[in-house]
Amino acid sequence: MAADVALDKTRNIGIAAHIDAGKTTTSERMLFYSGRVHRIGEVDEGNATMDYLPQEMERGITITSAATTYFWNDHRINLIDTPGHVDFTAEVERSLRVLDGLVAVMCAVGGVQPQSETVWRQANKYAIPRLIFINKMDRMGADFHDVLHQVRKRLGADALALQIPIGAEENFVGVVDLIEMRAIYWEEDDELGETPVYDEIPSHMQSKAEAFREHLIVSLADTSPELEAKYFAGEMPTVEEMHAAVRRGCLHGGLVPVLCGSAFKNKGIQPLLDGIVNYLPSPLDVPPVEGVRPKHDEPIFLHASPEEPLAALVFKVVTDPFVGQLSYLRVYSGKLSTGQTVYNANNGKKVRVGRLLRMHANRREDVQEAMAGDIVAAVGIGRTMTGETLCNVDKPLLLEQISFPEPVISMAIEAKAKADEERLADALGKIVAEDPTFAVRTDRETGQQIISGMGELHLEIVKDRIRREFNVETNVGKPQVAYKETISRVCEGRGRFVKQTGGRGMYGDVEMRLEPLERGEGFEFVDATKGGPIPREFMPSVESGAHDAMEAGPFRGYPVVDVRAVVTDGSSHDVDSNDVAFKIASSMAFREAYTKGSPLLLQPVMLVEVVTPEAHMGDVMNDLVSRGGNITQMRPSPGDTQTILAETPLANMFGYATSLRSLTQGRATYTMEPHSYEPVAPDKS
Ligand code: GDP
Repeated sequence: MAADVALDKTRNIGIAAHIDAGKTTTSERMLFYSGRVHRIGEVDEGNATMDYLPQEMERGITITSAATTYFWNDHRINLIDTPGHVDFTAEVERSLRVLDGLVAVMCAVGGVQPQSETVWRQANKYAIPRLIFINKMDRMGADFHDVLHQVRKRLGADALALQIPIGAEENFVGVVDLIEMRAIYWEEDDELGETPVYDEIPSHMQSKAEAFREHLIVSLADTSPELEAKYFAGEMPTVEEMHAAVRRGCLHGGLVPVLCGSAFKNKGIQPLLDGIVNYLPSPLDVPPVEGVRPKHDEPIFLHASPEEPLAALVFKVVTDPFVGQLSYLRVYSGKLSTGQTVYNANNGKKVRVGRLLRMHANRREDVQEAMAGDIVAAVGIGRTMTGETLCNVDKPLLLEQISFPEPVISMAIEAKAKADEERLADALGKIVAEDPTFAVRTDRETGQQIISGMGELHLEIVKDRIRREFNVETNVGKPQVAYKETISRVCEGRGRFVKQTGGRGMYGDVEMRLEPLERGEGFEFVDATKGGPIPREFMPSVESGAHDAMEAGPFRGYPVVDVRAVVTDGSSHDVDSNDVAFKIASSMAFREAYTKGSPLLLQPVMLVEVVTPEAHMGDVMNDLVSRGGNITQMRPSPGDTQTILAETPLANMFGYATSLRSLTQGRATYTMEPHSYEPVAPDKS
């Protein structure tokens, strides 16, 4: 199919699910039915098409946001993969930024699990229209109506069943389509479920189906005055009117259509694809995105039109063994062509777009042009980082940055063989470009390379990748909490770097005031000098000198955060002043001031969510409190369980999985995500 699919026939969607709910299997089936993949890949055999990194196949979890394009009913669907593991909530946030609609896959047995709640809350934050697919209807204990109830109660969603299942567990054979009022079956001898059979609703379900349809119509009438008038006049809405009302409600009214099936048994996928096309938004249905002109605060609103200035967001960078660095882009407005020179508004560099690729599950297709609303991967645009904006050279603009949590766990890493050191540095550099939640630094005292990330699993996966993709064997240290440090009061310092030993000398002189910022505010740099004691051209070096000093704080050697550096004065020399001298002088001024600012140590605090059977609640809470946890919420959950939320220092959470298992005989589950950085009590720092 040609690349010029109309915008209103484009869908940029993601699939979110609690781990194991069947997200991969469902994506896989969607690709299969769309005719782009010719053999159904089974996750259990480790060859699903979306999970293409080797370690994902082994672990059976999906961690990258690869975007895959396929077609259904003349519509182009760009499926953006969202990860399911809690260590990767930042990845989820990042993909939510660039997609327009979401399919939430839930397990018909497990129902609404903690991870589904987390993703749901994130999707609420971006007001993303969504559908629910209740999967695994074939499994023992599958209960469509119970999950529907949980969705309403626990997620507070205005969930509306568009189908009800026919049979359950091993007798699940199909669904009743409540809009068309017909049964859809997938027959046993149609092993791949390619040909749904449409039939009358079985007589024993007729009255149930009518009751559900009545509920559906009443709910839709609530959202549409025309349908309401019709309903009160005793008239039935047409099928088209119902589809239109569901679409409207889903796009603008917070309505969540609910479908069901069994991805594994190949049942229910075609109606799900229809649902995506019928109800989820096209790029034209979503509000314009907001950008700003660099150095101006005035906002610009960008509409999904090829006529507007180019605005494209890099939402994922991967190093591909065949083509090099691939940057996944969402084009919000304007158009992008191969050969075009564009401007990276974040790093101020111009880059020429070498190739543009559309990624299908099993092949890539070269395209000449990507239009507003589209998702493509660009090759050869230099060292672009995740979150950067590409725009027209003559119309610079910045899209809102994607916010990522700070890495919370770190460990030392080194190449086993000395000869591999350079390759390791190269590998780490590439992974940093791909993954904004991953960082590398060198410990000033020990000279060790320290990597940090979102959790133990995250760092383990990085180590795996270094071995597989870059062929470097490494030794790693024990995972440690990634502390940071900051100051607690205003302080001042001066740095003079002067050398006059024959030839050209060095002269830099900086006076600096440091001020504490609120937690999470990062770093600000202000030039408050009067009368130009430091020539303007050296100011960027002064800023970068402060940055250097912050990499390893003078207090305990951890990265410094949450300070404002204000340059108050300084002096220069006509001949001897240069960038290097000012950079060094600035670092010296920063360090001198810092030690006078009552520095303190900051530690990562995690939001821990435990779901435990009622009987073990006391033990779980006592244990959390003994770990320094601050219990912030308790609420009853379905099936005699309780959900406990606590904010707990990460330092006390090592080995928690084992401890929770033994406290509850393995009956409790937990998730954990970075919450904030807080001062460590003075006696412990
Ligand atoms: P993900 O972690 O959400 O991507 O889940 P997967 O797609 O990897 O599925 C997890 C497990 O559930 C795999 O063993 C699948 O074979 C199985 N599974 C997925 N869908 C279904 C289903 O509809 N019915 C049953 N019985 N098993 C399923």
